[in-house]
Order: sequence, then C-alpha cells, then structure tokens
Amino acid sequence: MHMLDGYAVAFLLMLSLSVEVIDASAGDADPHYRICVSQCEESGCVGERCFPNCKFSSDGEPIDRPWYMQEPLYLQWKEWDCQSDCRYYCMLDREKEKELLNQGPVKYHGKWPFSRIYGMQEPASVAFSALNLAIHFHGWVSFFILLYYKLPLEDGKKAYYEYAGLWHIYGLLSLNSWFWSAIFHSRDVDLTEKLDYSSAVVLLGYSLLVAILRSFNIRDEATRVMVAAPLIAFVTTHVMFINFYTLDYGWNMIVCVVMAVAQLAIWAVWAGVSRHPSRWKLWLVVFAGGLAMLLEIYDFPPYEGLLDAHALWHATTIPLTYIWWSFIRDDAEFRTSDLVKKAK
Ligand SMILES: [Zn+2]
Repeated sequence: MHMLDGYAVAFLLMLSLSVEVIDASAGDADPHYRICVSQCEESGCVGERCFPNCKFSSDGEPIDRPWYMQEPLYLQWKEWDCQSDCRYYCMLDREKEKELLNQGPVKYHGKWPFSRIYGMQEPASVAFSALNLAIHFHGWVSFFILLYYKLPLEDGKKAYYEYAGLWHIYGLLSLNSWFWSAIFHSRDVDLTEKLDYSSAVVLLGYSLLVAILRSFNIRDEATRVMVAAPLIAFVTTHVMFINFYTLDYGWNMIVCVVMAVAQLAIWAVWAGVSRHPSRWKLWLVVFAGGLAMLLEIYDFPPYEGLLDAHALWHATTIPLTYIWWSFIRDDAEFRTSDLVKKAK
C-alpha cells in the first residue's frame, strides 16, 4: 500500500510539473515570435498574408448588424480572430525557419504547432471528440431501448434497474462534455476553454459519484443524497474557482486525476469482490483507461502537425466508451433478471 502511495504522489507531482509550464512555453518566449505577433496585431499582416479581422472599428460608428453581432461581442470575436491568426502564421513562419536549422518543434502558449484544417486548431482532437460524442449517443440510445423496450417493466411502465436515472444523467453529461471538447479543440479562447474544463470536471465528479453509488449498492434515496452532497459541493466550488477566480492548470489537473484514479480504483476493487458477470469489461476499461492516462504525461509533438499525445488519448477513449456502455447494459440486464426472479 505504501508503494502505491509513493507511486501516486510521484504521479501527481509529475503531472503538476508537466502542466506548470503551460503559461509560458518555449515558443512564445522566443523574441522572433513575439516581435512577429506584436507587429502583426498592429499591421494586420504576416509577410504577404493579411487578416481582415485585424482592422478594428472602435470609433463607435453605428454598424448595421443584428444586436447579438454588435459590439462588444462582435469586437471581441474580431480581436480573438486577429490574435489567433497572427499567432498561427507567426508560429508557422518561426517553425519553418527552425526546420531549416534542424531544430525540433516547441510549444506555443502551451500547445504544439498544429496544422489547421478548415480553421480547426487541432483537427485530430476535434474528430476524436466528435467520435466520442457519437459513441456515447449510440451507447445511451441502446441502453434506453434495452431498458424500456426489451427488458420487463415494473407494472408495465417503470424499469426494474435502480440505476437507470443515474446512467441517463451520465449520458447527458458525457454528451455535453464531448461537445465542448470538440468546440474547444476547434477554437481555443478563454470562453471555450472554461466551458470544456468545467464540463470535464462536472462529468468526472459525477462519474465518481455513480461509481460509489453503484459499487456500494446504494439504492435508498436519502443515503444517495447524503453521499452526493459533499461531492456536489466540492465540484461546484471547484468549477466556480476555475471560472471566476483563476484557471490554475496544475491544481485542476490534480483534482481531475484524483477523481479519475478514485473511480478507477473503486470499479477495479468492486469488479474483484462482486463477482459481477461482466466484470472483465470493468477490468478492461480500468486497465486500458489507466494506460491511456499515461498519454497525458508522455506528451509528444504532433506527427505531421496533426496527431499528438492528447489527440491519441481522445482516440483511445472511443473503444473504451463502447465497452463501457456495453457493461452498463449488461448491468441493467443482470440486475433486472435478479429483481424479476425475486418478485416472483
Ligand atoms: Zn482534449
């Protein structure tokens, strides 16, 4: 147990160190790059290439646009566009120069130099997020069909499975989280980043709650509320902290890793002691999920400007999600047949 503790501490330390550097990366500390960006934000051009969104009209002229496109939101978007275009083309120029000098890629503002596709900043992560979303949707719909159309219903209308409502909310939170992940990887601005991080924290906190409720067989409403209250309070506080105080990447990573490791451990132990008929699916997801988390630590630059460790991490959760929903369906079937037997 002590070895495990030591390992967990080393693991968290490594994680917090690896994210601490996000604020200032080697790329954006480079004076060539800095000069390029500040010149671009004034002139609106990098070399021959000029960006229309770098021409701001802040002199208060009435602009003939619908209300939601008027200042300041409209100006804000223009500013974001200008800044992101400048940063992107300055980065490309700088990386080209460095390639001639045989220097490897470095990070800019915490991110590797990715090639954009249709204006998406990290196209591979966007594609994998969308696939995760699709698999969650498929999993949830098939769970729904199994529960209400294939399995017997109590009094002909209510599902026997006691954890149905919990998994429905889990499905919704998963869809929400992958939706914002796809948006964030398409376009990284303050707003999309906060939405993505907040949704991920909420999903992680909620799935930890489900892990506790399911593995301890907590079916009684009052006990469920008692267990949920401190977790909900903590997650709410943390979400408010990262949104309205400061998005501390190191601290947020620790919170996420602790919640993730806790639920993996709970499922693993439960799979061992419960003799659940589909426990091999639990073990597979726990084991592969743990391995996949290593991809977040061994961060490598994108292959061909597209496929990096983070994108690969999002790719690994696609088959795991499929197996996960199949476990949830098995669990519903298993519990239902048990309950129907008892009712007879
Ligand atoms: Zn991501």
